[in-house]
Amino acid sequence: MNPNSPILGIDLGTTNSLVGVVDSGFPILLADENGSRSTPSAVCFAEDGTITVGAVALRQRALHPMHTITSVKRLIGRRPGEGGWVPPYVLSDLKTSPVEVSAEILKHLKAVAERALEQSVSQAVITVPAYFNDAQRNATKRAGELAGLEVLRILSEPTAAALAYGLDKFGEHQKVAVYDLGGGTFDISVLEMRDGTFQVLSTAGDTQLGGDDLDRMLAAFIAERLNLPANDIRVLEAAETVKKRLSVDETAAFNGLDITRADLEKIARPWIERTRMHCLRALSDAKIKLDQLDEIILVGGSTRMPLVRDYVRELFGREPNTSQNPDEAIALGATIQAGILSGSLRQVLLLDVTPLSLGIETFGGLMNIIIPRNTTIPAKAGEMFTNAVANQDNMLIRILQGERELAKDNWELGRIEVPFPAGPKGSARVGVQFSIDADGILHVLARDTATNQDTTLEISGTAIDVEDERVEQMIAESVDFAFEDMNERIWTESKFKAEELLPAVDAALTQLGDAITDEERSDVLKHASEVRRLLQSPGHDAKALKAATQLLDDATQSLAVLLLDRAMEESLVRRGLV
Ligand code: ADP
Ligand code: MG
Repeated sequence: MNPNSPILGIDLGTTNSLVGVVDSGFPILLADENGSRSTPSAVCFAEDGTITVGAVALRQRALHPMHTITSVKRLIGRRPGEGGWVPPYVLSDLKTSPVEVSAEILKHLKAVAERALEQSVSQAVITVPAYFNDAQRNATKRAGELAGLEVLRILSEPTAAALAYGLDKFGEHQKVAVYDLGGGTFDISVLEMRDGTFQVLSTAGDTQLGGDDLDRMLAAFIAERLNLPANDIRVLEAAETVKKRLSVDETAAFNGLDITRADLEKIARPWIERTRMHCLRALSDAKIKLDQLDEIILVGGSTRMPLVRDYVRELFGREPNTSQNPDEAIALGATIQAGILSGSLRQVLLLDVTPLSLGIETFGGLMNIIIPRNTTIPAKAGEMFTNAVANQDNMLIRILQGERELAKDNWELGRIEVPFPAGPKGSARVGVQFSIDADGILHVLARDTATNQDTTLEISGTAIDVEDERVEQMIAESVDFAFEDMNERIWTESKFKAEELLPAVDAALTQLGDAITDEERSDVLKHASEVRRLLQSPGHDAKALKAATQLLDDATQSLAVLLLDRAMEESLVRRGLV
């Protein structure tokens, strides 16, 4: 593979064809010299031997209907008469074949790409419908070769569409329906993500159902009202323009005739109804029920119609995903596949990460993080906790999510109560473990290590699925309040330490009596009273309290050593060793 020559991604469509390439890591579709990224799949063989492709060929259709070939995709790889299709007169008359006509379209796309990229290209990925058999796939490949392209892969259209909608969105075993309503065909496919790639579970559809039918029906409607011949190509073209306009506007006019969206929808209703049985068929072939479907994506120019979107929403009972351009999704997917093959686009399967930290509330209302934000799932972590108060016989564990230092500023996901035998402060040992499985479900387990009694809680969804907006807001707030939050944490921690230290110091001083010098005693007392003063002062001066507590702690170190010495001495004396 030539690393400098890009690989093209091509949607060789029945009605329209597109070409793309990965450029600096991004898949892009390439425009022709008129700025159009979509080329009508039309080829005109003029009497003088010149061959034109695309919009130009389509314009010739009115003048040379017998020399212009459209929808050649219906014929490729089929034997004459197969599938009820008789090769049109033009093919035999011009002694050309569907493969050769398709090759003309591919040659044109190759030229569009070479012009846009200013370099020659020789390799491509081409998409075909999922139901294409070997003969049809091979014929498509031959057409590519005839156009001077080495076809590295023939890719299924629904798979390409799903690729365009983003692999990372679909987890293992997720099921996706691709509803593709184009110009001349309707395809419905059900895919399942397995080992990081899509598997086609079933496909169904109608090769004679598409936007073209609607153009004909609307042309008849218009022709009747305006007393024009319905099969006039200009009426037909006007009908398509009106139809497209009605996807955006409520009315469209042609030759003084106002046509409303309601008019079109009345005509279109029975037409769209015809997709229903194919959808049900595809689901039943895939052996899945509607509610087992994770996503439904729309592909094909005709799905731009509001009626089609409404219909799909009704039929599947959910909002279809329309985040990609329906007429570009397949080409985009082919381009992504080409990029993966050429190595210019790495196939990174984005694993889910925790959007925000998960933890529990600890003493003084602080947030204690157990699984930090941005941890790849599945993940598991735990910590030991003890009782802060004597004779406590249970612990309330509040499970929190967020980046703030204080528990109250984070979100509570749930709470559990862990019982344990009452005892002195610090005697209980409760292990808390968080584990997030691959599905994003948070399992909380709290175990009293004395009794081995477990308390568990399952929290689904929220650990992973948080709206981006809320995540951003939480992080922004954690930055905004970083100083105050940190101050409050230091204060709470220092206060806790001071409240432990002060009674211990008092006890030690009493115990030691005159075993220490007056100087030592007053030094310790000075630090102790400074700590007391700060604890009582109204403004929470966290830094000062932390420093004073540290000084007191240092000063008491010497007391502790003395106490230890005394204890040692006493025991030796007791045992008569001194
Ligand atoms: P194919 O897969 O058959 O090549 P496309 O996906 O390009 O087809 O879809 C072409 C069809 O989509 C045509 O029938 C065209 O009229 C229809 N179409 C394109 N844009 C719109 C629109 N905005 N509203 C309604 N139909 C549209
Ligand atoms: Mg298509």
